[in-house]
Amino acid sequence: MSIIKIREINFSGKIFCSFLGHKMVTTRNVTNHFKEYKCSCCGLELTNDLKGHKTFLTPELKDINETLVSLYQKRHFSVE
Ligand SMILES: [Zn+2]
Repeated sequence: MSIIKIREINFSGKIFCSFLGHKMVTTRNVTNHFKEYKCSCCGLELTNDLKGHKTFLTPELKDINETLVSLYQKRHFSVE
């Protein structure tokens, strides 16, 4: 498959999403309130911000989520 063909598929995926909305699937549970999502159609990644709204998953937010996961797991395991 040529590079041009792959680009066409990505492009049509984004068009599809802009009409029908993203098809988000949960890729990771950070905590009970923070999750990471990915669109199975175009690959767009989202996460929850501090107010619980969905926002774009930037490298900075990914770092914060990593920290939250390790803190959450430590706390979870020490309680049990
Ligand atoms: Zn999408």
